[in-house]
Amino acid sequence: MITKEKVHSILKGYDKKKIKIATICSHTSLQLFHGARQEGMKTIGICLEKYKKTYDAFPFGKPDEYIIVDNYKDIPADELAEKNAIVIPHGSFVEYTGKNLEELAVPMFGNRLSLMWEGDRNKLFKWMRDSGLQIPELFTPETIDRPCIVKLPGAKGGKGYTIVSSPAEFKKKVKEEKFIIQEYIPGVRVYPHYFYSPLSKGGYEVRNGSLELMSIDRRLESNIDESYRATLAGVTVEPSFTVIGNEPVILRESLVREIMEMGANVVESSYRLFQGMPGPFCIEMICTENMKFYVFEISARIVAGTNLYPLGSPYTCYSYKEPMSTGRRIAREIKRAAKLNKLEKVIY
Ligand code: AMP
Repeated sequence: MITKEKVHSILKGYDKKKIKIATICSHTSLQLFHGARQEGMKTIGICLEKYKKTYDAFPFGKPDEYIIVDNYKDIPADELAEKNAIVIPHGSFVEYTGKNLEELAVPMFGNRLSLMWEGDRNKLFKWMRDSGLQIPELFTPETIDRPCIVKLPGAKGGKGYTIVSSPAEFKKKVKEEKFIIQEYIPGVRVYPHYFYSPLSKGGYEVRNGSLELMSIDRRLESNIDESYRATLAGVTVEPSFTVIGNEPVILRESLVREIMEMGANVVESSYRLFQGMPGPFCIEMICTENMKFYVFEISARIVAGTNLYPLGSPYTCYSYKEPMSTGRRIAREIKRAAKLNKLEKVIY
């Protein structure tokens, strides 16, 4: 893996007044380019030729310039570095670049190590436990004694997940070799989007910095969501969990206290385990009828649910006079860090 020192030495050569925001045209890039534009920063979209047309359809969301590639695994690091680019990782970025992300010789916003912790299930569980989060019970194929969700590896948006209630059902339904089996938690899913700034003071203070709640969503998954329609229509459906979109959520205000505490604990733990996590992240959880939160994942980067709020959210309006998306917040942090000569604090 490329060292932090190497990344910071590349960053040293940058013209701090001409920093550009770069990412792959997918996932949350419209929001990221839009937010950077609002902050007066120039943007670069790494794009396949066939997708450029889609981005050109959104004049305020498209990048200022494109770098057209044949394959996302061939991201031109030298060209990006020459252009003073800081790369913003998002879900598709992590998935498309795979292992290449570890070696990518371009300054990246946030702590690249956090993406490694998110992507490795053992590390992720260590992180969730160290954060003191309540997590659903884990089972082996032999010990299944209640409804469980079987998850396949990789950030594939819930694709291929299945529900089983016994060892026999597991044997019948699951043919894959790599999986985890987790107790199925009934309740309402909640995905709060946070932003941690090690540069800010005041507000919700955590570790010499400040934690912000940017927004909350829940995912729309086909076909578990709205499966009642199929049931009413007399169609039997096997529940599946393929993410196809997102919808907004606002929480009971008393629950926001706990949500903030959980976010703070995840940040504190990131410092204990891998030197911190500046920037956006999301804790994916289910709230039961007893108002207990069970966490099943942490995303250590911007998540697609933030796309609901390109002009701010019912939380950011209490912190900012202007519309503040997570994309814009990232651009602002980079701008501020450059001005304070503290880019090293938010880049790896
Ligand atoms: P994940 O890949 O862990 O983000 O999970 C994908 C989807 O599966 C989530 O958005 C939930 O709808 C569902 N899910 C994951 N874990 C659980 C669980 N322990 N209990 C109930 N539903 C879950």
